[in-house]
Amino acid sequence: MKDYFIFYNNKFVKQSEAFVPVLSATSQFGLNVFEGIRVYKEESYYVFRLEDHLKRLNKSLNKIGFDTEVISKKAFLKIVKELIILNNLDTDFSIRYTYLINEIDSWSSKKNPVFFIAPYKRERNSENNYRTAVLAETTRISSLAMDPKIKCGANYINGRYALIEANLKGADLPVLKNKNGFISESTGACVFLVKNGDVITPSLDCDILESITRDTVIKIFSENDYKVEERHISEKEFFQNDEIFLCGSAAEITPIKLINKNDFEIGDLTKYIFQEYRQAVTAKSYKNYDWTTKIDI
Ligand code: PMP
Repeated sequence: MKDYFIFYNNKFVKQSEAFVPVLSATSQFGLNVFEGIRVYKEESYYVFRLEDHLKRLNKSLNKIGFDTEVISKKAFLKIVKELIILNNLDTDFSIRYTYLINEIDSWSSKKNPVFFIAPYKRERNSENNYRTAVLAETTRISSLAMDPKIKCGANYINGRYALIEANLKGADLPVLKNKNGFISESTGACVFLVKNGDVITPSLDCDILESITRDTVIKIFSENDYKVEERHISEKEFFQNDEIFLCGSAAEITPIKLINKNDFEIGDLTKYIFQEYRQAVTAKSYKNYDWTTKIDI
C-alpha cells in the first residue's frame, strides 16, 4: 500500500510514521470508533453523505464513552483538501476517520482519544463484479451484548469469524443471522433481496448497522415507485429470492450469488440500483437529497 500522508494527532505525517503503543487499549482490545467515507472523482471531488457519517461517528464516540466530538464539517473538508494535494490524489479514494487511544492504558480507558483522517485508494466497483455468499452459522453480535450500531473496531471480530466460516465453505462472504434467527447483515455490508419485483431488507432491529448506503438504496427505490419492505426475513424466505445484493460505502452495490444456487445471473433490479447509486454518488442525480459535498482543488 502506498505510504500516503495522513492527518494524525493534529499533524500531517506519513502513514508509516503514525503509531499506537502496543500496550494501548486500541492495540490490545480493538478500542476505536471509525467511519469509512467515499470520495468520488469526476470533474471535481465528491464526498458522499459526509454529514451522516459525522453524525454516526458522534453516536459511536458517545456510546464507547470517549468524551469528545467529531470536528466540524468545514474543518474536516479543509484537512481532506490538504490530503488530496499532499498525496496527489487524482482518482476515487476512501477516507478512514478514526478515534483511538494512543496511550498505555486498560480496556476501560476513556482518556485522551486522538483521531486520524487517512485516505486510501479505492476504485469504484464494476457492475459485473459479483461475490459468492453463504448463510453462516456464526451469529451477528446482539444489540443486547455489543451494539452492532456502533462502528467499533472490536465489533469486526464477529465478522472475521463469519468470514473464516464462509471461506471454509467455499464462499467469498457470509450472510449472518441475528440472535432470533432472522437475516441480519454481511461483514461490512447490508443485505437486500428482490422477490417478484419488490425489494426487501432486514429492519433496523435485526442487529444491523444503520447503514448509510442502505438508507440511500431505500430512498432511491422508493422515489422510483418500487415497493421497499423493511422487516424480519426468515431463513426460508432468504432462499426464495430472485436476486440478492449487498450494499455499503465500500461494497457500494455488490451482486451476490449464493453458493448453493446454480442458475445465477445478475438480476435486473440489482443492475438498476447499481446504475442509480452510481449517479447519486457522483452528483449526477438525486440532487434534491444534498448527499454529495463538492471539493474543488
Ligand atoms: N454493516 C457493517 C457491519 C459495516 O461495517 C458497514 C460499513 N460501514 C455496513 C453495514 C454498511 O454501512 P454504510 O453503508 O454506512 O457504509
